[in-house]
Amino acid sequence: MPEVQHTSQAVDHHLTHPLFTNAIKAIEEAGALINCDKNVMARLQKPKRCLAVAVPVRMDDYTVKVFTGYRVQYNSTLGPFKGGIRYHQNVDMGEVVGLACLMTIKNSVMGLPYGGGKGGITVDPTKLSRTEKQNLTRRYTSELGPFIGPQLDIPAPDVGTDPQTMAWMMDTYSQEQGYFVPGVVTGKPVEIGGSLGRAGATGLGVIYVTEKAFEKIGKTIKGSKIVIQGFGNVGSHAALYAYERGAKVLAVSDVSGGIFNGDGLNIPELIEYVKNNKVVTGFPKTQKITNEALIELECDALLPCALEGVIDSNNAEKLKTKMIVEGANGPVTNNATKILHKKGIFVVPDIVANGGGVVVSYFEWVQDTMSFFWSEKEINEKLRDIIVPAFEKCFALSKEKDVDMRTSAMAVAVARLEKAMLLRGLYPR
Ligand code: NAD
Repeated sequence: MPEVQHTSQAVDHHLTHPLFTNAIKAIEEAGALINCDKNVMARLQKPKRCLAVAVPVRMDDYTVKVFTGYRVQYNSTLGPFKGGIRYHQNVDMGEVVGLACLMTIKNSVMGLPYGGGKGGITVDPTKLSRTEKQNLTRRYTSELGPFIGPQLDIPAPDVGTDPQTMAWMMDTYSQEQGYFVPGVVTGKPVEIGGSLGRAGATGLGVIYVTEKAFEKIGKTIKGSKIVIQGFGNVGSHAALYAYERGAKVLAVSDVSGGIFNGDGLNIPELIEYVKNNKVVTGFPKTQKITNEALIELECDALLPCALEGVIDSNNAEKLKTKMIVEGANGPVTNNATKILHKKGIFVVPDIVANGGGVVVSYFEWVQDTMSFFWSEKEINEKLRDIIVPAFEKCFALSKEKDVDMRTSAMAVAVARLEKAMLLRGLYPR
């Protein structure tokens, strides 16, 4: 077969963002591990479609500001594009391409019938009034109108966007179609087609995977000692589900710092405390601890659920945990992953560990499509039925090839895409 040649230079200068170049490096390594078809590898290294749109918005003072919005549709081999919408001042095309590439991988490794996409607007949403944010969202949705839809591309919330943003997106799209189209976005409020269980889904997925990872190292979550960085959506739910399963959560932290109790924290009480006090510090019967010291605590499982890059080559050698389950995106750097693998610390990578959110987004889309809604119990069980086999598949390949699980998860994702691309073939040939 002749090799694929690329000529789309208009896109090429956006393909330099470190998020993207790191993702491509990892895809190349994974491709080499499974001896992936080289034409498939070439196709996986370019986004299928990159949109940039002007988003004019009437501000509260009646002036008009023009923002820039993006949507990158990276790959649709396995199904409609799927991925979040980010509102942040640093958003640019390069970042969105990188994130869309990673969504392609994540959806593939989870076994979902989705391709990968991502979108965003270069804006600091904290500087907008509610009306301005609504105007921005509606015009952006309208500009994307011909390119999104339940069978085509399904956005969701990401940094700086929330269920209300998705409600406005869904309403705008539906107004323009002339009928109710809840399946155009996920992460909506439950009252208008959102799914039960979505709020806790990522944290629950982290704990399903943690339970399985404990099995692999001959332990159980019950009676284990767990440390969690971050006590937001992912961290607080993961803490609660671990606590309910009989784990001792020794320490948690947030932007205000960390708290420690060697006998384990009462997580339901801590959640109540944070509702009233906004931060974890000051919770009774605890010692203060820094975020840096928290990461180095002796424990059975460390769950970083806050920031990127908190475990790097500077602190990887000092860790005293038996395993790390990445609740956040990218908390362990690639170099640190290699060091930890050598030290025998088991790392469950983000694309597997925090996939619970996108899995329940998938359930939301299925429920919207059928107009038939499931109980939270059904959703939580179905989540386990998807995330645990995905974990097992990646674990088996990591053993077979003797590689860390980040590499094997990437390889599982690439192999599924490869198979589907080869079956579908190239149009036109
Ligand atoms: P969130 O905003 O609800 O919570 C973030 C937490 O991190 C907060 O407790 C915050 O105080 C803490 N934090 C911020 N700065 C910190 C610092 N310097 N040191 C320690 N803690 C700090 O966010 P979230 O939704 O829980 O997301 C957390 C991570 O998980 C992000 O990387 C996100 O991309 C990833 N993620 C989230 C989901 C989801 O469904 N929410 C899904 C997949 C991945």
